[in-house]
Amino acid sequence: MLFDPAPKTSRADLFDREEEIERVRSLSSPITLVLGLRRTGKSSVIMISLNELGLPYVYLDLRRFEERPFSTYRDLVAELEREVNRLTRRFPGLLEALRRVEGVEVMGSGVRLRWGGRGRLSVASLLEALNDWAEDRVLVVIDEAQELINLRGANLLPALAYSFDNLRRVRVVLSGSKMRLLYRYLGVEDPRSSLYGRAMSEVELMPFSREMAEQFLSLGFSELGVEFRDYDLVYDAVGGIPGWLTYFGYYYYQGRDLRGALGLIREEFENFLKSRPLARERYITVMKAIARCATWSEVKGALEAREGVRVSDSELSNYLRQLMDSSWVVKGEDGRYCPAEPLIGRAFEGAL
Ligand code: ADP
Ligand code: MG
Repeated sequence: MLFDPAPKTSRADLFDREEEIERVRSLSSPITLVLGLRRTGKSSVIMISLNELGLPYVYLDLRRFEERPFSTYRDLVAELEREVNRLTRRFPGLLEALRRVEGVEVMGSGVRLRWGGRGRLSVASLLEALNDWAEDRVLVVIDEAQELINLRGANLLPALAYSFDNLRRVRVVLSGSKMRLLYRYLGVEDPRSSLYGRAMSEVELMPFSREMAEQFLSLGFSELGVEFRDYDLVYDAVGGIPGWLTYFGYYYYQGRDLRGALGLIREEFENFLKSRPLARERYITVMKAIARCATWSEVKGALEAREGVRVSDSELSNYLRQLMDSSWVVKGEDGRYCPAEPLIGRAFEGAL
């Protein structure tokens, strides 16, 4: 069903995106980036590609890392352990290959991964073992990979670079809703980064156009046998993000409105604020000012009016940069700052 709010796992439930799935499936570079705003369908496209490829894979879902100001190596290793155990249950032969990996203890039909002390897990040797074990290819998916930027006490980039350069059978897929943050983390253009200069393949999921959004909604409503005509109104309100169109269809069908969506956005913004407690009110003021787009000086004026003190240019540019890095705000061609998508604006128009 098109309006099912869970990520889609089969192509039959997905609207369009044929080309994007093909590009992910081709695994043409050792690392593939799947980019796009939240709810554009990255996880769905990845899951469908995984199912269709039928290759063994490890899937690290870092969404839960978003709710914390930072994460530790222990958190990451716990995710890895769960996924590796899922794999060894399906492929008991993998256990043999894992025995040699530093930080891996084979116990019965599963493994325990050590996260601390001497002899803790080396991700590079884990990837190497997967590479040696795989007959064809093995996939490592890190969903919402920009969250690794807040990982303390470990750096995954050298392992990813090692894999990129040496492990022919390991294919890595990284998704990111916060594209600027992901680029910064990977540092492909930064000579100091381990991944400097590596050519990755990129698949970007754009929001649907007005026409596509209308087709999407009309298909979804016809599946439900519901009469619907106000396509333009919906597009004007929520834009072309498939996840919001799905959400709209699902709740409209149940006779509910979009207030829940605005609540979700505010919750996600709270996650953003968690690691910035001191500037909390300032960020909220900035977002309110930007709700219907605003110039630099308008944002500055709003901050200063609220606080009754001068706000320096460097402070303001830091706030705006962080909001853009995390895909809350975009800078338009006219130089004005706008919400990254219409519902974000709506969420901040009222009280927060
Ligand atoms: P992301 O990982 O980019 O945040 P998801 O894959 O979780 O996005 O998708 C968000 C929601 O939108 C899910 O409910 C999913 O089923 C739906 N969705 C996204 N893209 C499509 C599509 N092309 N066709 C049907 N449903 C979609
Ligand atoms: Mg996702």
